[in-house]
Amino acid sequence: MLKPWDFVGANCEGVDTEYFFPEDKLITSENKLAKKICSTCNFLTECLNYSLHHRVQGIWGGTSPRERDRMRKTLNIIPVPIIQERYHNDRINNHRQSSL
Ligand code: SF4
Repeated sequence: MLKPWDFVGANCEGVDTEYFFPEDKLITSENKLAKKICSTCNFLTECLNYSLHHRVQGIWGGTSPRERDRMRKTLNIIPVPIIQERYHNDRINNHRQSSL
């Protein structure tokens, strides 16, 4: 399974992570923009697959946490917990590096 840090050339590279990880965790117009960005990403399938199997927050693979919870129930997937803060930082750093 590809990991998000392998998604070189993903549509979210260089995009403000606030669109994908909103503070208030509500679906806003920014979330909709993130979903639109995801919709044409070459890694949409891999990203969604990863986010279904890991308990990540924010928009991943064009889905919100609530949407992924519903999909997990249907697909009988139990996600693996991750250390969220570190992971966010890794993702942000990857974006910064790739946009240099
Ligand atoms: S599907 Fe969305 S969150 Fe996942 S790598 Fe692509 S643009 Fe980024």
